[in-house]
Amino acid sequence: GDALAVSARVAPLGSRLVMLLVEDLTEARRIEAVRRDFVANVSHELKTPVGALSLLSEAVLDASDDPEAVQRFAGRMQIEATRLTNLVQELIDLSRVQNDDPLEDAEPVRIDELVAEAIDRCRHQAGTKQITMAAGGTADLHVWGNRGQLAAALGNLVENAVNYSPARTRVGIAVRRITAPGGDLIEIAVTDQGIGISDKDKERIFERFYRVDPARSRATGGTGLGLAIVKHVAASHGGEVTVWSSEGQGSTFTLRLPEAGAARDRALQHPALD
Ligand code: ADP
Repeated sequence: GDALAVSARVAPLGSRLVMLLVEDLTEARRIEAVRRDFVANVSHELKTPVGALSLLSEAVLDASDDPEAVQRFAGRMQIEATRLTNLVQELIDLSRVQNDDPLEDAEPVRIDELVAEAIDRCRHQAGTKQITMAAGGTADLHVWGNRGQLAAALGNLVENAVNYSPARTRVGIAVRRITAPGGDLIEIAVTDQGIGISDKDKERIFERFYRVDPARSRATGGTGLGLAIVKHVAASHGGEVTVWSSEGQGSTFTLRLPEAGAARDRALQHPALD
């Protein structure tokens, strides 16, 4: 196609330049394909609850002389409406972490506060499943960054740990400082005793809308966007998120972020991902 046309035209300039141009075109095409897939996914994800709401409202109208059926349909409408609200909120969050510079409103953020907030957010869900949550090693440590984004990232990891674990298991959050040449890092490891993730899926779970088991994700109110948000927040703060997992045994998601003060500059050198 046009890659060939371009390479034929610039061939006299030397094969190295041609290769660079072809690579550029391939990369441009890949980005365009990712964007198209994302738009298609968003449309599909939005259409599902909207379609269900439309069918359910028709059913309510048809069942107006059967109060029990009306109750039942109205209950399902509420679930679909909540799903739609969650999806729109996560899309807004994702767009924020992709487009805003998190370091514009950066401040030193206490890790023990972030951990307490994440645990609070999941307390109800954990309680209904009798999951114990325990945090350890949270001394007086700070990372440098956007408080809201960091809270969203850690909150997502803890929420997933609770959602993808059976009843009466344990979710642990361990915090420590690690010494690194470019400045010290704060490591936050979230460990569950849940269903685990296969090696094949591990490579893809950070993609937008990728879920190992879509039905299970939906049942817990998942959108498939949580880990994509975590990955963006980590990268734009000059950090990273990694996963260790053993199927049927559990998973550990580890967030590493530059410590406040020590490594401000390192964070500033890492631009956000696209
Ligand atoms: P979701 O909204 O579906 O939870 P995420 O982006 O947060 O979306 O996660 C993507 C997928 O990764 C999930 O659907 C699930 O299959 C898998 N996953 C995430 N966290 C865990 C975990 N702690 N244990 C097992 N599987 C997980």
